Amino acid sequence: MSKLPNVGTTIFTEMSALSVMHQSINLGQGFPDFEMNEKLISLTTDAMRQGHNQYTHMNGLLALRQQIAHKVNELYHNTISADEEITITPGGTYALYTALTAILQPGDEVILFEPAYDSYIPNIEINGAVAVPLPLSFPGYRIDWNLVKSSVNKKTKAIIINSPHNPSGMLLQKEDINALVEIVQRHNLFIVSDEVYEHLVFDGHTHLSMLQFPELYARSFVCFSFGKVYHCTGWKMGYCISPAAFMNEFRKVHQFNCFSCNSPVQYALANFLADKNQYLHLGAFLQQKRDYFFHLMKDTRFKALPALGSYFQLYSYAEISNKNEKDFAIELTESYGVTAIPVSAFYQTPVNNKVLRFCFAKNESTLLAAANRLQNV
Ligand code: PMP
Ligand code: GLN
Repeated sequence: MSKLPNVGTTIFTEMSALSVMHQSINLGQGFPDFEMNEKLISLTTDAMRQGHNQYTHMNGLLALRQQIAHKVNELYHNTISADEEITITPGGTYALYTALTAILQPGDEVILFEPAYDSYIPNIEINGAVAVPLPLSFPGYRIDWNLVKSSVNKKTKAIIINSPHNPSGMLLQKEDINALVEIVQRHNLFIVSDEVYEHLVFDGHTHLSMLQFPELYARSFVCFSFGKVYHCTGWKMGYCISPAAFMNEFRKVHQFNCFSCNSPVQYALANFLADKNQYLHLGAFLQQKRDYFFHLMKDTRFKALPALGSYFQLYSYAEISNKNEKDFAIELTESYGVTAIPVSAFYQTPVNNKVLRFCFAKNESTLLAAANRLQNV
């Protein structure tokens, strides 16, 4: 019997395979098509040559955890212990999974918001817990806090937060933080916070992290991905930050699943993380790409929804086709040579808002070629 009877192949794999088959321009799955920093590559090969090729500490290389603690202190004014509150993981998805596995008992309920990154619900269900997906508003993709209040009950154990949000590109605002504080304190809930796009924030906005609000951090697992920061999604490296008592439980799960992550990469990251310029300008770098693609897309019949962060922007095709999002995404790949992700794939309940997610973390030449093709639609 399947433990995940409702789970098929993730939409990212499905659309990327279709893209390869039709040799389309792939603006679907979120990964850059430009090269990562040459210095980080050199630091990694140096580490390998220097013999850092055996297991490192199960919690992650201490020097890397110290650098992360320093960064968190500078950015979010939170003094965390490198020893007790940080664990290096093979990617952000694994950090989310491990956090949920560390806290969930069968029958527990977890509130999350749809559209939702597609690993959340299976990560909950594999633990025998129950996902309670609540819709974000459309087209603003905001949280309805009254709906959250009326959905919390005695079984509710945790709430999953994701800002900057995949796929909508929206950000939590201060009023969301206030509402979150009230609910998690009143009902004693854990927070699993997916902040993998922390630096990818545009138009002068700032990222609000669970790390900067002591009353929220006290009950949070905050998950990050180096893949998104250093343009190396294939490295699958990330980390989780949580107060010591919770991190202790996280590590119990982690030690018998991954044990310890890739060593040379951790040596390289420990060195590279000291250079703030490599992440402080990321928002501006990606914003330029968002704007470039947006400008090109004005010559198409697609209509942009606002995107304040992440790798992604949603575009409506309501004036183009009546097809559902999946069918239209397939048509776009097969007939026009551009691949996007149907946002309906991020919902358990069927929706058809006629929006597709385009990844603009690409070379300008890629974005230009894609937009030229989309003009024919
Ligand atoms: N959360 C979200 C919202 C993401 O888009 C991604 C991207 N893959 C991840 C988590 C996980 O990142 P990683 O590749 O490090 O597992
Ligand atoms: N995070 C990326 C996205 O949302 C890809 C993740 C994946 O392929 N699992 O497109």
